Amino acid sequence: MNVDQCVHCGLCLTACPTYEATGLEMESPRGRLVLLNNWAANANFQSRDAAQWLDDCLDCRACESACPSNIPTGHLVEEWRSTVPLGTANRRLLLGLSQAVGSPRGLKRLQRLIRIGQNPLGRWALSKLGSLLSIATGDVLDGLPPSILPGLSRESLTTNMPNADTMMFVGCIMDAVYNQSNEHTAALLRLAGHTVTVPSNQVCCGALHRHGGDPATTRRLAKANIKAYEATGAQQVVVNAAGCGTTLKEYPTLFESGSEWHFRAISFSRAVRDVIQTLAERPLAQLTQQSTTITVHDACHHTAQNLNQSTRALLERAGFSIREMPNSTRCCGSAGVYNLTHPSMGRTLAQQKVSDIPPETQIVAAANPGCILQIQAGTRHYGRNTVTVRHPIDLAYDAYRAAGYLGGVADAT
Ligand code: SF4
Ligand code: SF4
Repeated sequence: MNVDQCVHCGLCLTACPTYEATGLEMESPRGRLVLLNNWAANANFQSRDAAQWLDDCLDCRACESACPSNIPTGHLVEEWRSTVPLGTANRRLLLGLSQAVGSPRGLKRLQRLIRIGQNPLGRWALSKLGSLLSIATGDVLDGLPPSILPGLSRESLTTNMPNADTMMFVGCIMDAVYNQSNEHTAALLRLAGHTVTVPSNQVCCGALHRHGGDPATTRRLAKANIKAYEATGAQQVVVNAAGCGTTLKEYPTLFESGSEWHFRAISFSRAVRDVIQTLAERPLAQLTQQSTTITVHDACHHTAQNLNQSTRALLERAGFSIREMPNSTRCCGSAGVYNLTHPSMGRTLAQQKVSDIPPETQIVAAANPGCILQIQAGTRHYGRNTVTVRHPIDLAYDAYRAAGYLGGVADAT
């Protein structure tokens, strides 16, 4: 894809959260394409300002659906990130965090650190450390769930079950922080009649690495996940995090066209389904209406997968009535670790998102761990303390459990 294909029509401008927040052309998709062109053509153009404007891109992909030339601006910025030296535009931090989530051992260490941050002294220490490193650790800690079970979800879920029809992809932050949501996902898949296996050799999808400009590690992780899936013999790979789902579905783009790994990645990506998609194919029972007022934040990567209506359908079957949030598809500013590396823009977008939550809302449903964390922290910072942010799967699980369809997490095994 050549950035010259931009016809400068400007249809992408209003879709772009960073343009909306700043009003600056260089913070828009169209402006970033000009920057990318000039960056490649002229070394004198490679300034700190240009790097900052490019690195401010959230990779939310909202511009792509608005663009008549189908220009993948998010991917083009990812490619640019892979060419800038370490230390530029927060890349060093991003790569450090990417290493932490790249293996189960690293994830367990990260989980221990996060759980320390849940007590007041630990929170103070981690916030101070974050300040020294110029990362907004405190913002993220404020969004954590009240309790995180020790251990990764892959340790409590059934692993390596033979002849299962579904491989469940457990992710990294979902595995370590929202481990209960993974257990709920497995329980609902079983309620829908699927047999579920959770291979222990699966790894992080590589989204953070890809967004941070580290294609080599992304490819290594992709190969590990493809091999783990092939060994299961399952018909589908089910994932509950919108960002992971998009990355898994795009694995073929990581490999040279026509190569063995390209073909294997195509077969894998065709098997990947978001859990919302899977549950839409075998709908659960319709439950009676509940009184709780909920609204939905559409994660950017759920929108990219065209899953927003299916999310509402699942919640309505579980008995919820939905009060629509204005600008529900606008990025909340989480974007992987963007809220850590770009605290100012991250806070602006979080504040906008919180101001869009309709009055009297008790719960915001969001199908991506980063969004849950970011919006929950935002509710605490911007005066909506009574609002809880939860994964739609958790809401559905609680509803079906209360209605007697599920006996508890133990039933998930
Ligand atoms: S990916 Fe998102 S932040 Fe980046 S240019 Fe496109 S709309 Fe703007
Ligand atoms: S919508 Fe596409 S073609 Fe039009 S200005 Fe934006 S990037 Fe260029």
